[in-house]
Amino acid sequence: MTDERLPEPLQWDGEHASPLALSTYADAEERLLSEDVVAHVHGCSSCAWRLGEMALMTRSVDEALRSAQPSRPPEASHAIPWGAVAASVALSVAGFVPRLAAMPHAAASLLGKLAHVAPVLAHAAGHVAHGGLGVEWTGLALVSACLLVAGSLAVARLRPATRAL
Ligand SMILES: [Zn+2]
Repeated sequence: MTDERLPEPLQWDGEHASPLALSTYADAEERLLSEDVVAHVHGCSSCAWRLGEMALMTRSVDEALRSAQPSRPPEASHAIPWGAVAASVALSVAGFVPRLAAMPHAAASLLGKLAHVAPVLAHAAGHVAHGGLGVEWTGLALVSACLLVAGSLAVARLRPATRAL
């Protein structure tokens, strides 16, 4: 058994127990004190008084710590920046207004092009529906799908992690 006790001079303050010895006693670490100091604390009214004061101070500090509200980090703002949204919508509208004059002509042109493309698309769709894509096109579609999935996984893994608050 090791003799881990406070050095004797640190346990005494004159003829009474030192503050360190009283604190050690209050922390229920009597094994660190000499038997003489423990016996003195039990028998001396002055040391008992100081021990009581120390216990009251400890209790008041404990209560103060319990009553204090823990500081919370400022919450991140998740509010929608309506001003920025409104400004971007206004800019988009302002950029679109000059094109409004050309809109009827562009719409007519698009419809004309669709009228030319629609029979070709319908013919191709009918061909695919009857004969299928064929082995080469099916393989190419599968390779494309695999590349898209692999690319998505790579992007998901390389994306910097966001911290949950
Ligand atoms: Zn004393």
